[in-house]
Amino acid sequence: MDELNRVIIVGAGIAGVSAAEAIRRHDRDVEIMLLSDEREMPYYRLSLTRFISGELKRENLFLHPEKWYQDNRIDLRIGTTVLRVNVAEQFVELQDGSKIEWSRLILSVGASPFFPPIPGKEKKGIMAVRTLADADDLLERLHGRESCICIGGGVLGLEVAEAIARLGVKVKLYEVAPWLMPRQLNPKAASLLRKQVESLGIRVTEGALIREFIGHDACEGIRLGDGEMVMSDLVIVTAGIKPETWLAREAGIEVGKGILADDRMNSSANGVLTSGDCAEHRGILYGLWNAAQMQGKTAGENAAGTESRFEGIPLSVVLKVIGIDLFSIGEFMPKEEGYGSFEFEQEGKYYLFVTRDGHLTGSIIIGDRAMAYRVKAAVDKRHDFPPDEYGSAEHFLLYFTQNA
Ligand SMILES: Cc1cc2nc3c(=O)[nH]c(=O)nc-3n(C[C@H](O)[C@H](O)[C@H](O)COP(=O)(O)OP(=O)(O)OC[C@H]3O[C@@H](n4cnc5c(N)ncnc54)[C@H](O)[C@@H]3O)c2cc1C
Repeated sequence: MDELNRVIIVGAGIAGVSAAEAIRRHDRDVEIMLLSDEREMPYYRLSLTRFISGELKRENLFLHPEKWYQDNRIDLRIGTTVLRVNVAEQFVELQDGSKIEWSRLILSVGASPFFPPIPGKEKKGIMAVRTLADADDLLERLHGRESCICIGGGVLGLEVAEAIARLGVKVKLYEVAPWLMPRQLNPKAASLLRKQVESLGIRVTEGALIREFIGHDACEGIRLGDGEMVMSDLVIVTAGIKPETWLAREAGIEVGKGILADDRMNSSANGVLTSGDCAEHRGILYGLWNAAQMQGKTAGENAAGTESRFEGIPLSVVLKVIGIDLFSIGEFMPKEEGYGSFEFEQEGKYYLFVTRDGHLTGSIIIGDRAMAYRVKAAVDKRHDFPPDEYGSAEHFLLYFTQNA
């Protein structure tokens, strides 16, 4: 009997699809099976907010047309849930009880929204936005509605709030931290962002403690720490993600915060690789599109027998939130001694440079994308900035303007 030559990829997000692309590029013959429990063809998850706001049409969301999978002999099965992985006997078990064997397996099962443990969080009307089905559901609920509550003022929370506001629905946004985007911004930068957010008609409350969701089966609103009640039967929660690890854990594959992966995206089990939001690489859970794409490619190349490594990407963000360019990298609010911190603000632009031992170790830039890329390169390359020459934000600005 011929030896089995089949890669099964569980999860058809960007990590799973990138793995399938890489495998087919390197191996014309191997059988590729791509299993997805979602009902839609694989799509650009990061574009969901632009779909919600109406900026993108549904047909522009998909990664590839159906024919692409056929042409590349990728057996894509949507609406297919893997319930169990058997590592010793090398098969997966589906929801209909059928078993499919693999010679290599890639777990690219992504992540699911995290709901903070607020009493009443299981009530009807409380939702997250992770999938296209969620986006459809949200659009249906927003129809004809005047207002809603959004919980979470991180990057995704702000994008969701913006998309909803653009539909003409009034948003009341609550962030538990004392300022918006606390993982990427300091209070000064966040206050500039807040102005922009509020200009869209989004009402922002920072430092908000949500005590409970009120209502019986269905949510009727929230009760805040000071007892105030804010009524709405639609609450969108965006409070981070948790990697999908149960499938791996139950199969005896090593799991930390995510499914543990080495630089080749191998898991602890022989023949099983992992990639994307579910994977923990060198202690990091990225939760980012680019990282998922690169890890998926690496997993696919290794599954196809080509030596390939993912060595991590710098944790920085260059993004547009609510129409303004934001950049944040490294340590920008150092808690120890020995750092220099230089800031400059002008006409809605904001620059923060944080240094240590003659190197830039962190930065925040608002409203200047070109400068952001130059600063990022200087941080990545550990460019020298002798402390006796760089004693103010203006010195850094001059350097980055002259070295454009
Ligand atoms: C609205 C939104 C906006 C975003 N914006 C940005 C952005 O601007 N920039 C950025 O870098 N990142 C952004 N992200 C994050 C980015 O989209 C994710 O990091 C990326 O999509 C992760 O890809 P993945 O393939 O690892 O996981 P996923 O896309 O989650 O794919 C995993 C797939 O596996 C399926 N699956 C899970 N378990 C099983 C099972 N047992 N059987 C079968 N299938 C299974 C899941 O249903 C899912 O379809 C955004 C995310 C969201 C939700």
